[in-house]
Amino acid sequence: FFLALEGGDGAGKSTQVEVLAEWIRAKGHEVVVTKEPGATPVGKRLRSILLDVSESGLSHRSEALLYAADRAEHVDTVVRPALERGAIVISDRYIDSSVAYQGAGRDLSPTEIARISRWATGGLVPHLTVLLDVSPETARERFTEAPDRLESEPAEFHDKVRTGFLTMAAADPARYLVVDASQTPDAVTTAVRHRLDQVLPL
Ligand code: C5P
Repeated sequence: FFLALEGGDGAGKSTQVEVLAEWIRAKGHEVVVTKEPGATPVGKRLRSILLDVSESGLSHRSEALLYAADRAEHVDTVVRPALERGAIVISDRYIDSSVAYQGAGRDLSPTEIARISRWATGGLVPHLTVLLDVSPETARERFTEAPDRLESEPAEFHDKVRTGFLTMAAADPARYLVVDASQTPDAVTTAVRHRLDQVLPL
């Protein structure tokens, strides 16, 4: 079973990934927690290039391709092998992050970004994608020191990213759960568990 957590910067994905992994492990499953970008040795190098992007002036197309390369390596060496041995994989970000950030956010075509991603992953789609939805303003208020990315891109960028995520979720409600991530972390966890109880092979 492949679960992806998606959402903008500061939505609380990494916290939820850890809590949900513990909960599923307690039920006796092997859980592999992973993330994009940067889950593999090559991915770590790509991540450091990508996160310097504003300073280095990487073109938007090459940015999109480096994310796709990170994802190809991630799927081939981490995600697919884990799924093949029956583990439950939880990924902090996956294809939708590219469609939202490089597609909607950067004004590349979301359709083309989705196509690149499909090729990069050999068509591997999560069984469930949880979108932690929060306004960029609320996300920023949560931090005394906001995540770099919330500061380094204009509000308009983060608004487009958010809309990009919501558009994908609205188009395929059977495969998405949208959770209001302005709630307390516990309330978010409860909402996700409720859905997982219905879909996990437990
Ligand atoms: O999720 P994490 O904080 O590790 O992501 C690192 C940064 O990469 C984030 O600030 C996010 O804005 C950015 N990112 C991106 N495009 C993606 C995935 C992440 O711009 N496809």
